[in-house]
Amino acid sequence: MKLNENYSNLKESYLFSNIAKKVNEFSTSNPDKKIIRLGIGDVTLPLCKAVVNAIKSAADEMGVQSTFRGYGPEQGYDFLKNAIKNYYAEKQVELDIDEIFISDGAKSDLGNILDLFDKENTVLVPDPVYPVYVDTNIMDGRKIIYINANEENDFLPEPDKNIKADIIYICSPNNPTGAVYSKDGLKKWVDYAVSSNAIILFDAAYEAFITNEELPHSIYQIDGAENCAIEFCSFSKTAGFTGTRCGYTIVPKSLGKLNKMWLRRQTTKFNGVPYIVQRGAEAVFSPEGRKEIQTNLNYYRENAGIIADTLTRCGIKFFGGKYSPYIWLKCPDNMSSWDFFDYLLSNIQVVGTPGEGFGKNGEGFFRLTSFGSRENTIEAMKRFETLIGIQ
Ligand SMILES: *Cc1c(COP(=O)(O)O)cnc(C)c1O
Repeated sequence: MKLNENYSNLKESYLFSNIAKKVNEFSTSNPDKKIIRLGIGDVTLPLCKAVVNAIKSAADEMGVQSTFRGYGPEQGYDFLKNAIKNYYAEKQVELDIDEIFISDGAKSDLGNILDLFDKENTVLVPDPVYPVYVDTNIMDGRKIIYINANEENDFLPEPDKNIKADIIYICSPNNPTGAVYSKDGLKKWVDYAVSSNAIILFDAAYEAFITNEELPHSIYQIDGAENCAIEFCSFSKTAGFTGTRCGYTIVPKSLGKLNKMWLRRQTTKFNGVPYIVQRGAEAVFSPEGRKEIQTNLNYYRENAGIIADTLTRCGIKFFGGKYSPYIWLKCPDNMSSWDFFDYLLSNIQVVGTPGEGFGKNGEGFFRLTSFGSRENTIEAMKRFETLIGIQ
């Protein structure tokens, strides 16, 4: 027996354990101080009524002989795939139902899709980055090249013709920076991928936060993307499914063999998402569901607005926030991202995420999220303004 030695090349992830350790130490020695966490990358509002009702009635169906369902289609039920197809059609994207694959979330699919690609491919990831893109490729032993996302390019790097890559990751709206590509910006990546015979893995997990229809929700809103891109999306951030688990991946037939290969991969290694959960996801697209998830998304958007307004008043430069639950701020006075973390924790007991944890270009930056409660967001920003505003 030989181990997959690629696992020994993974870097230990200290980010969230370090944060937890520092917060614990602080609260042990300062039990009277109230800590506010604006570092969370998880939703906090509950599932909306339409989703809960759909899940309940699906559960009832499962308890009745005539409507009980056993194994379902591995790639998802048609009712949910049709709802997704219609959602894309509203954005002028025509999908075939066989191009849509339902899964238990974007993270699984982002990792699993790599089954379809040779180990010899070179991978291009922007830095800072969602760590899953990096670690899943390290586990397979692929070579990774980093492209700089930084202040100079507004955290929206453009392709470089001199860099040769086969698999390209793009996340827009971005985690952690909140930056969103314009259609022109994405078109450059699509042209680059087509001309170099590369594939783009497009992560659209935060598309629902976009309210400006000039900005692309889907990479397939860009001409030519159907020839070079796979898209990953999820109900996690759109509709609070982080604990309920449902997402979907689009593999266009125009990509050739990949569509069939993914079907084969999923039917072999995956047994589908529970019927009950898929009925819940379908309800996200119902008229009531849409209204209700917008109410929740607006709650997060208003929190982001409160954070953004505070930073603006404090004269702190930031990215994101407008079409994303993430606000990516530049640490004042050239503080390092961990120094700024300690500074906020010890002075105002506000916890965020040091940018350094997402890659070298994250150093000097700090991520705040709008997933907290309104009350906590307001309180945290009051404290922040008192601390930073008086400098
Ligand atoms: C939260 C998130 C996802 C969604 O993952 P799920 O597995 O569907 O919960 C995907 N990509 C990014 C960048 C995320 O932050």
